[in-house]
Amino acid sequence: MTRDGSAPASTDALSAAQAAYDAIRARGLKLNMQRGQPSDADFDLSNGLLSTLGETDLSMDGIDLRNYPGGVAGLPSARRLFADYLDVKAENVIVWNNASLELQGFVLTFALLHGTRNSAWPWVKGEAKPKFIVTTPGYDRHFLLLQTLGFDLVTVEMQADGPDLDAIERLAAQDADLRGILFVPTFSNPGGETISADKARRLAALRAAAPDFTILADDAYRAHHLGTPPETVNFVTLCRDAGHPDRAFVFASTSKITLAGAGLGFVASSEDNIRWMSKYLNAQSIGPNKPEQARHVKFLSSYPGGIEGLMRDHAALIAPKFRAVDETLRAELGENGEYATWASPQGGYFISLNTTAPVAARVVELADAAGVSLTPAGATYPDGQDPGNRNIRLAPTRPPVGEVYTAMSAVAACIRLATEEYRSG
Ligand code: PLP
Repeated sequence: MTRDGSAPASTDALSAAQAAYDAIRARGLKLNMQRGQPSDADFDLSNGLLSTLGETDLSMDGIDLRNYPGGVAGLPSARRLFADYLDVKAENVIVWNNASLELQGFVLTFALLHGTRNSAWPWVKGEAKPKFIVTTPGYDRHFLLLQTLGFDLVTVEMQADGPDLDAIERLAAQDADLRGILFVPTFSNPGGETISADKARRLAALRAAAPDFTILADDAYRAHHLGTPPETVNFVTLCRDAGHPDRAFVFASTSKITLAGAGLGFVASSEDNIRWMSKYLNAQSIGPNKPEQARHVKFLSSYPGGIEGLMRDHAALIAPKFRAVDETLRAELGENGEYATWASPQGGYFISLNTTAPVAARVVELADAAGVSLTPAGATYPDGQDPGNRNIRLAPTRPPVGEVYTAMSAVAACIRLATEEYRSG
């Protein structure tokens, strides 16, 4: 018997896997499947943005784009555009600068220093360290942000229809130091899961020991479907209807719509929360970058089909890459889970793969030696520690589709070799 209790792998299987790997390694590949970034072709769709504002575009909504006045919540036209995108009213939105992560950091920091509208005291003043739920596998920057601000992370499994609500209900009912949850509701990073309407309602109506339990929904991939759009949820109205009007903040940005890190981040919440946030934002900034907002409004409104039309054009570029991953893995690893299982999400930016044997770190190491760079094993878990050593995040959007096929063939060879090594082990 071997470590996993299975019959020993034949030395034939191991030497065949080794030979296949050696042949790939000899090719001297230099490919990258770890960057969750748009491709140059995706960026090219938005090149027009750069020349959208001319010398005569000096104002929008009667506001001079060149001067300070305008307020902290953003240009009215930008608030309307992204309110539509998030399915809320303009009064429920702040359009800020280039990063939704920054807005997530602001909400958490304001809550730590001042408490939310429902807090008895600032979160830092609690007797115990504040805790926040994150989903795993999940987004490493969520872990980093929360840990950097001093939160203890409580992990909950991300399931096919969203976070494990049974676990969340149990945890939140018991623990008054559990301040909330940060997760991706649509096409999650890395698994591509979308929360079901039922789970979204349960989360909005959650009976939490902390009166200020807060939902931070990072809806980065809300419009990033590759075919039929999923049913997106509206946490602002769900929470209002459940009697917790100030419970949810929903974040998104144009980072994967127009230019990465050079667009607009925005947040939706109750009108009271928008005032709560504006008060603290106003203390640290006179307002966001209005020319950037104006050119996004002009560009996205004049793009054929608007934001939806632009997302269709992105989907036409990205869908073949998702297919390339799925086809190659099926062809090289089979579909019976002998070596790995993986998701086939209909949107988002990532594909999450689980090796059947606990060999994710070895796969990433072998891939690296063969010239294929993968997201570090463990990155989808807090502190880089994947307890099962199985999860690998594949990011196919940045390389051209031909490279995705080649890279995935190589990754499959690494998975076969790492698995046979383990089984013979
Ligand atoms: N949220 C998620 C889930 C992401 O995957 C990413 C980028 O990969 C971001 C946020 C970054 O967004 P932004 O550029 O708006 O800060």
